[in-house]
Amino acid sequence: MRVARTVVVETPPLPRKFFRVFVELEGMYRNMVEQLVLHAVREGIASFTRLKALKYRELRNLYPQLPSHYAYTACQDASTRAKSFLKLRKKGLVEREYPEVNSVSIWLDDHLWKANDLTSIKVATHKGWIPLEVIPHKQYWKYVNKSWKLASEARIKLDRKSRKLLVYLTFVKEVEEHRPRGFVSVDVNENNVTALIDGTAYLFETDMKDIILGYYYRRKRVQEKYDKVHGIKSRVKRKIFRKLREREKKQDTRWKIANIVVREASKRGYAIVMEKLGRRPGEKMVFRIRDSQLRHRIFQAAFRGMQEAIEEKAREYGVSVVYVNPRNTSRLCPIHGSKIVYGNESRIGKCERGGEMWHRDVVAVWNLLLIALRGDGSIAPSLAGLFVDGSPVPLGSTAAHDPTRVPRALWARRKSLDETMNSYKMIRMNI
Ligand SMILES: [Zn+2]
Repeated sequence: MRVARTVVVETPPLPRKFFRVFVELEGMYRNMVEQLVLHAVREGIASFTRLKALKYRELRNLYPQLPSHYAYTACQDASTRAKSFLKLRKKGLVEREYPEVNSVSIWLDDHLWKANDLTSIKVATHKGWIPLEVIPHKQYWKYVNKSWKLASEARIKLDRKSRKLLVYLTFVKEVEEHRPRGFVSVDVNENNVTALIDGTAYLFETDMKDIILGYYYRRKRVQEKYDKVHGIKSRVKRKIFRKLREREKKQDTRWKIANIVVREASKRGYAIVMEKLGRRPGEKMVFRIRDSQLRHRIFQAAFRGMQEAIEEKAREYGVSVVYVNPRNTSRLCPIHGSKIVYGNESRIGKCERGGEMWHRDVVAVWNLLLIALRGDGSIAPSLAGLFVDGSPVPLGSTAAHDPTRVPRALWARRKSLDETMNSYKMIRMNI
């Protein structure tokens, strides 16, 4: 299985005459992509092969001075844009008739660029090959040293203000997938990620709700304020949005948790099981935004983003990921298969048959594990009579019903669960 990571490196400021070549190149490339996207969306073409078959000749005639492979990569670029636009349009999520081609990076394939050595590349243009120096950084060396290989595809983006190019390089690695010896089940919630590892449910507090809603309202305030004064497309607004660094902060949380969870699974030779997100993850949401469609969109994206980060990390470690149907995962008692009754807005419920107390997120991870162990995706799972590797699943003590809470301050600075839990114990002892 191939795992890929993109790394961005910069060039030093280019001499004016070189930079001008890239400005011209970008202009031609953008024009090709714009025309292709328009055509693809009008005709409903999402396939790269079909788009290329239809338009290749035309593109070659349009810019005969360009190396021919730019016609390929422009088709790839355009079909990716068209595909995602058509998908959104199908869901009724777009207002415009055609997608706007705002930001352009020039896609390169193995005919259009070459690596000379680890710190210099060359790019084919309408003015011949242009050599470029790239400035490596820590992350870049990390991939190089850990024997990741450079993929044939790359992208460049112009930074007009400082006359630099941003070079997007892709590193790839082949990893082996192992047959799982067990499962770590992971449930993503509004305010935590809960992972069941060998009978202990760890609840990693994320405060995702506050982060997401906080950003949402801040964005809205900025929007309202600046749209009135500067118009919808103002630069000031965009600059402020960038300052919020919303994406980076969310990504940081995701990577850290994904890292901890995946490493635990990898250490044990386990697979990861998560729920297939449906159309209405309603019962996961405690908080209510009045606009239900918007609420749905915001949180669905956030849940999915967390799952994707885990998937991505898992691929890197050769850990497999299983998705199961989540129906009733937090409603039925994992031991008795009977209903769990939750109080108003409460995360704690009581089993109708056994009378024992359950934390909703703990119930969910146990049930996810059970579904995965049965392997048939059936609902109404029960722990009774269930054996893993010949030994019964440990769920006797009441402690198993309660999650081990891991506050953000603890996991955020550490890489492994052991390290996190050690400092956790130390803090508890000090209290
Ligand atoms: Zn029960």
